[in-house]
Amino acid sequence: MQSFIDSLPLIDHHCHGVVARPLERPAFEALMSEGHKPVAGCTQFDKPLGLVLLRWCAPQLGLEPHAEPEAYLAARLALSPEEVTRRLAGATGVSRLLIDTGHRSDAILDPAAMENVTGIPAAEVVRIEAVMEEVARTGPADGAGLRKAFDDRIEERARGAVGLKSIVAYRTSFDIVQCPPTLAEVDAAGSRWLAALAAGRSRRLEDAILIRYALFRAGELCRTHRYPLQLHVGFGDADIRMPKCDPTVFTPFIAAMEEWDVPITLLHCYPFIREAAFLAEVFSNVYLDIGVIQNFTGPSAGRILAEAMELTPFYKQLYSSDAFGLAELHFLGARLFRNALAKVLDGWIAAGDATPAKAEAIARAIASENARRIYPIG
Ligand SMILES: [Zn+2]
Repeated sequence: MQSFIDSLPLIDHHCHGVVARPLERPAFEALMSEGHKPVAGCTQFDKPLGLVLLRWCAPQLGLEPHAEPEAYLAARLALSPEEVTRRLAGATGVSRLLIDTGHRSDAILDPAAMENVTGIPAAEVVRIEAVMEEVARTGPADGAGLRKAFDDRIEERARGAVGLKSIVAYRTSFDIVQCPPTLAEVDAAGSRWLAALAAGRSRRLEDAILIRYALFRAGELCRTHRYPLQLHVGFGDADIRMPKCDPTVFTPFIAAMEEWDVPITLLHCYPFIREAAFLAEVFSNVYLDIGVIQNFTGPSAGRILAEAMELTPFYKQLYSSDAFGLAELHFLGARLFRNALAKVLDGWIAAGDATPAKAEAIARAIASENARRIYPIG
């Protein structure tokens, strides 16, 4: 299966831009980590991601696999950032990048710039919490003004996007009331939050009432535009309160979106891969990927993909790299996914569970056909 899967175009339905400046070692290592504190005397290369990065990315920069980190970073610094991006993010066989622009967007390339440098067509997925924060900074008079400004802005942004995204799991966890709040509740919560922002007691949107409002508003827009709402699940940085980020905790909201025929794409899902697969089995609107965690588990990526494929219907699984900042993460996402998928399907063929023709159909579905069916990307 390997050569067939290596030739398949992929749709990366959840990723971010790369940093466009030369990266010295501390900045590079910071982008290899979800933690915020380096450990003195230790390196991010000393973990599974470090192994696969040096194995697979070093040859893209003209080095032998498993080059030393110093040699790798020196070779990287000898090239322009554009050339690094081209050799790594531009060499994935990805045919479309769906880029989440809501996280540190001033530090990374936007979709147009990513498309320019990599030559891969890019489209935008809009993060709803970032839009609420953006309109709060424009100085609405009160909660009602915030709500109206959000409605206008999210409607406008949604028109140019191919999907919306929420990081409710980060901000409140999934363990919140899951019906729409009343407008009076929203306006009161908005006024409270604006006052907290003005007093410096809040930096970002963490109010469950406002996030619930944004989620249902996003659901309506996704229904209108017939595209998915992406939900961050599980693995992420230290803000996550993991036990409450199990996606089955969000079942009432997922069920409400099923009523509206809005696809929900569960991102990352680790360690709740089985829970996410269960939701994909029982809800017609649920899809999932295991992006990011394939990169972070490196040599074990095959086992992680095999776990996702235990139960997930073949028409419900998607590919993503969830690469952020480093072009290496784009390259590795595709490489590890292709290797893992070939390994799982070869095993099924060898066991007599799938014919080669069926295995190829499964690979095509996960690589791009499922994403093409639910996102408006032609
Ligand atoms: Zn992401």
